[in-house]
Amino acid sequence: MGRSELTIDLDAIRRNAGTLLRALDGAELWAVVKADGYGHGAVDVGRAALEAGATALCVATVPEGLALRAALGAARILVMGRASDGEIASAREAALELVVGAGEIPESVRVHLKLDTGMGRWGLSELPAPTRGVVGLMSHFASADCDPAFTEAQIERFRDATAGLPGLTRHLANSAGVLRYPAAAFDAARCGIALYGISPFGESAAADGLEPALRWESELAQVKLLAPGESTGYGRRFTAGRPTWIGIVPVGYADGFRRDLTGTQVRVGGEPRRVVGTVSMDAFAVALERELPVGTPVTLIGAGVEVEEHARVAGTIGYELVAGLNRSSERSRRVVVG
Ligand SMILES: *Cc1c(COP(=O)(O)O)cnc(C)c1O
Repeated sequence: MGRSELTIDLDAIRRNAGTLLRALDGAELWAVVKADGYGHGAVDVGRAALEAGATALCVATVPEGLALRAALGAARILVMGRASDGEIASAREAALELVVGAGEIPESVRVHLKLDTGMGRWGLSELPAPTRGVVGLMSHFASADCDPAFTEAQIERFRDATAGLPGLTRHLANSAGVLRYPAAAFDAARCGIALYGISPFGESAAADGLEPALRWESELAQVKLLAPGESTGYGRRFTAGRPTWIGIVPVGYADGFRRDLTGTQVRVGGEPRRVVGTVSMDAFAVALERELPVGTPVTLIGAGVEVEEHARVAGTIGYELVAGLNRSSERSRRVVVG
């Protein structure tokens, strides 16, 4: 298989879109495919989400939007991040929609006005009178995954601020908002992480009826017996206390298997096994119970190995782990199914 293989299951993406559409109860689902679809592939995921009923795609930058336009044709595409002055003309020509959260409202392109209801990042502190070209009103949750009181206050602020402006599409919720706050649905919701089957709450995604779409697999490239006192890896952070079989997996932090994943579990031949010693740039070690053949399959993500569990070990969130996967073809083979 080479070093490793990333498999993206588009049927899982479609089923997750269906789950979100049911929660949205009539509001539109807009699929967030920034950062190359959270590492899953923006074009494939975007196409699958549209097939499953999403009505727009959201990206962070104008170049991401232009790439989707070229690949997918007529889809509705919203660029959520700031567009530079130089990018506005190309956005207009490609019929991309832009978000304005500060400064002047460009007239020549369709725009969504972004109100800051508590994120304290991008966004206007008051909504100005919409000018020609304004098609939507939006805001963004700061803590829909963890703070109900603050989230309810953001919903109320958005509802009040947009009440006098009918006829414009109102969109506020992200994945966590859709899954926990029915009142946040408004006219449309921008969902990313849940579409990929990863929990926005850092829990098991299955609890919300979501199915991981990504599988990352490799294999044992070397197997060796450490005698007591012998170690594996940089810094000798794992030293065998008794004779210990270890397997070397040809994946490291340059592939996106982060250095702080020491201690997490992967599956070796289907069995949970612990990552031991320092993760290096191109390899890491797992402790085995017995000698196994070189070529034994190792699952790094998927098939029972949860991104959310890796994220807990690494002290981060699932978003960062999948966005950090190195998808260059010299590193891993990418397979799309479904
Ligand atoms: C990334 C992003 C989203 C999607 O958030 P998820 O938690 O992945 O659903 C929605 N809105 C904005 C403005 C974003 O930047």
